[in-house]
Formats: sequence, structure tokens, C-alpha cells
Amino acid sequence: MTSKTRNWKPQTALVHGGTLRSQFGETAEAIYLTQGYVYESAQAAEARFKGEEPGFIYSRYANPTVDMFEKRMCALEGAEDARATASGMAAVTAALLCSVKAGDHIVAARALFGSCRWVVETLAPRYGIEATLVDGTDIANWEKAVRPNTKLFFLESPTNPTLEVVDIAAVASLANSIGARLVVDNVFATPLQQKPLQLGAHVVVYSATKHIDGQGRCLGGVILSDKKWIDENLHDYFRHTGPSLSPFNAWTLLKGLETLPVRVRQQTESAGKIADFLAEQPQIARVIYPGRADHPQAAIVKKQMSGGSTLICLDVKGGKQAAFALQNALDIVLISNNLGDAKSLITHPATTTHKNLSDEARAELGIGPGTLRLSVGLEDTDDLLEDIAQALKAAK
Ligand SMILES: *Cc1c(COP(=O)(O)O)cnc(C)c1O
Repeated sequence: MTSKTRNWKPQTALVHGGTLRSQFGETAEAIYLTQGYVYESAQAAEARFKGEEPGFIYSRYANPTVDMFEKRMCALEGAEDARATASGMAAVTAALLCSVKAGDHIVAARALFGSCRWVVETLAPRYGIEATLVDGTDIANWEKAVRPNTKLFFLESPTNPTLEVVDIAAVASLANSIGARLVVDNVFATPLQQKPLQLGAHVVVYSATKHIDGQGRCLGGVILSDKKWIDENLHDYFRHTGPSLSPFNAWTLLKGLETLPVRVRQQTESAGKIADFLAEQPQIARVIYPGRADHPQAAIVKKQMSGGSTLICLDVKGGKQAAFALQNALDIVLISNNLGDAKSLITHPATTTHKNLSDEARAELGIGPGTLRLSVGLEDTDDLLEDIAQALKAAK
């Protein structure tokens, strides 16, 4: 097998990066649907287990198709090493839990994907790991929350669903000053529009289910960092707890990566136009979009992101009833809680993705009864604008 990774620009790395081509010279990446590997001799097995000879041992540890996906993600992210996981939540949980032990303290931005918040707020304390949730948009809140035993910072930016932006470089610098590590969930920005490792973060995690697949086919996740952190923290945790990605899903995600830049560019361009259109509608109380000058953290967006977003957060006047009426009147845009998909999707966070939060917690995050999250897909922009316009009219 041969594998080459050169100093390619992202679009090239996403088509060719990490490819392991077998002796058959296949064009597309091969799917190695195998759980294990055979050895030439007992001596060869011994040597491989000792690490004296390269090669695969067991697909819970590593698999050639999964390896291609991990290497291609490394080339895109500029990371030394990666581990692919069965879902985004498996990536987040592994990245957090392999870094801490009983008695340690985590500081996390409170605006987190619902399940991430559960891991930090509910699961970690069961094992003696305390967590403090802060309003992540002000660095002073992170500073105030630090304790002598703070080992880990965790944030998502832009956040789900209100697209708040956290200053990654500032939090990374605070983490470094106290010897803690910063884990960034970079799903909403995509690896193309924000580079947390370059901003000083230590670990980046993705739900590959979102833009990386981008076509609603499978779940997946990935954790990227420097080789030393992976060797010392993640390696054993990953091998022995088994959150590994299936080779078939790795192949699906490899194919997703090939078209990622084209899709994200088109979806972001459409989202920008739709956000501007929505901002002018009298039925819409508020539009939050990282590409607009009126975004609450526009200066930080400019500093750390290279594009707007494929997502828009909007508040419909008239609360839940008006938000539901708008959703129900849409024809092309589908009601679904996935995001980053080729199909445009809309969701009402208060009754779906964020229904488990208390009313106060939702209010803190800026999620009201009229809040909707729109994930802009690959349909023609004019068709989408027309669909939204007719739905607004019908929902009046
Ligand atoms: C979807 C999502 C996750 C979880 O990913 P799954 O693949 O659904 O497990 C984590 N973080 C963010 C920001 C997400 O959007």
C-alpha cells in the first residue's frame, strides 16, 4: 500500500490526502470491511503486537479505511494525529474524559450542544469531575471560574443554536497560563472556516455527521490534536473503550470530504443572502448570522473565522405559534434537527434540540419561543428565498 501526503492546499488534500492505494490500483478509496488481520507467522504477530513492525492488529484500534479518513482530516486541520469515532458525541466524550480524573475541574461555555452539556454537567460529576458553566463570550467569566484544579476548558463556537462566538485565542491563552487544555467543538464553523489549533486550542472535535458527510447518510466523529496528547491521553482510552468508527462510515465520510469545500462555499453564500433577506422582514424580530456586521461578536468573527456560516438563527415575532406556522408553511425547507446537510433544514430548538433545558437556562442562551435555527442546503438560492417568502406570507 502507498500513502502520500504533501504540502497541499485544502481542496487538494480533501481529494487525495491520506489515500492508501492497494496493489490493485483502485481509483476510489477501498472499503476494508474487516474486524481483524492475519499474520504471515507467529513471529510476525509477536512483532506487530510489540510495535516493532507496522501494520494493523484489530479494527477497534485502527483500520485502513478509517486510517485514510483520519489522515485526510489531519491534512485539512493541520493536526499531527487523529482518531475517528462512531459519532460526534463519542468524539466529545472521549476527548473530555481521557483528559481528566476524579478531583479535576472543567470550565465550559454554557452554550453547548445539548448532549455535550449533559456530559459536562451530569455525567462528569458522577465520576468526581466538577464542572463550571460560564457565559463564554466574556473572557473575564472564564478567568473567574478557574480553580487550582482546573485542567480542561471546553467550548463550541459558533454555538448551537444562537451562533454566539467565543474568542478562541483568548481562552487558549488563559488555558496555557494555568497549564490546562482547551478542547474546541468546531462543528458549526467547519474545518474550512475556522482553525482552532492555529488559534491555540489543543484539541479539536467534530461531529462528521454534519457538514463532513453533509448528505444525511451516516454518523461519525473525529478528534484531532498533537501526537503527544493523543499518545499520552487518548490512545489507551480509545483502544480500550471502543468508540471506533466503522470502515463503511469512514468511506462515506471520505467521499463527503472530497466535496466539502464546494458544498460549504455554496451553502455559506446562500445563507448570507437568506440572512440579509430575513433581516428585512417585519415578521422577524432578530437575525443572528456570523457573516453580518450586526452580529453581537462581529469583531471576533472577523478575527477568527474566514466565512459566515451555513446556519442562521432567527426570532419570529409572535412566539411559538408564529414559529410553528412558518415551519409548517415551508415547502422546500424541511423540518429536521440535523444540520450541515445538502437539504435545507429548520428546527425549533425550544421544543426539540433544547427541550431538556430549564426555561431559565434557555433564556440565558437566548433561545426564545420564537427562535428557529435554519441550516441552509444546496438548493438554488432563489428557490430557497422564494420558499421562505411564501411561507412568511402564509404564516402571517
Ligand atoms: C451534532 C453535534 C454533536 C454530536 O454529534 P453526533 O454525530 O450527532 O453524535 C456535537 N456537537 C455539535 C456542535 C453538534 O452539532
